[in-house]
Amino acid sequence: MYKINAIKRKAMKQLAIGVLLLGIFTNLQAQEKMKPEDTEVWSPVPKIVTTDSRNNVPSDAVTLFDGTSLNAWESAKNKGKANWTLQEGVFTVKPGEGDIRTKQEFQDYQLHLEWRSPSVIKGESQGRGNSGVFMQGLYEVQILDNYDNKTYVNGQVASIYKQRIPLVNATKKPGEWHTYDIIWTAPRFKKDGTVEKKARITVLHNGVLAQNNVELDGATEYIGIPKYQAHGAGPIVLQDHGDLVSFRNIWIRPLP
Ligand code: MG
Repeated sequence: MYKINAIKRKAMKQLAIGVLLLGIFTNLQAQEKMKPEDTEVWSPVPKIVTTDSRNNVPSDAVTLFDGTSLNAWESAKNKGKANWTLQEGVFTVKPGEGDIRTKQEFQDYQLHLEWRSPSVIKGESQGRGNSGVFMQGLYEVQILDNYDNKTYVNGQVASIYKQRIPLVNATKKPGEWHTYDIIWTAPRFKKDGTVEKKARITVLHNGVLAQNNVELDGATEYIGIPKYQAHGAGPIVLQDHGDLVSFRNIWIRPLP
């Protein structure tokens, strides 16, 4: 009896191997019969976007500042006029005026902005060339003069303030222009207000990857632990931290 069972088991095993080999062989044959065009996809065709040869602004971008006016912006405090200083195609924080925000609100996007800390060094740590750009008015990417200026690393330039340390410090000297290229994926909330998907962000600082699709713990908090509170689209906010940080060439591409 034992011997018959052993023979049966051996036969079953051989059959299984046979089926497997046949499967592999058939698959290989099918691959060989395929033509290159069998794996070509022809639609949907990506839309054409060109870039301006003078400033690299994409043709489908919403201009938030092109050097001429602060019309796309308003006071974050009272929605009145954005009273920062506009001079020679550049605008600068006017200390005491408070933060400014875009009139338009956004969800997911690609954002480009250029900023400059003052060439005259004043203060240290967080008190030197500090500003910030807030996604949806809530989540801060730190702007700071971090050239030879020690501070806590989760608050340094290109950090997600008090949440994510940047991969590198790609800073330039005080008075030089920096670029930020930011990809923002807004958080999603369930009907009961709890988080369905946390926010994600990628930041290139002067073309160098500083935040690589990192997840956020919640809205930026100066004191305490960040947490989420359900919200919809929101503005881009620029911070008045009392320092003369300047901005130019700001555009955004809302993503579908
Ligand atoms: Mg700041």
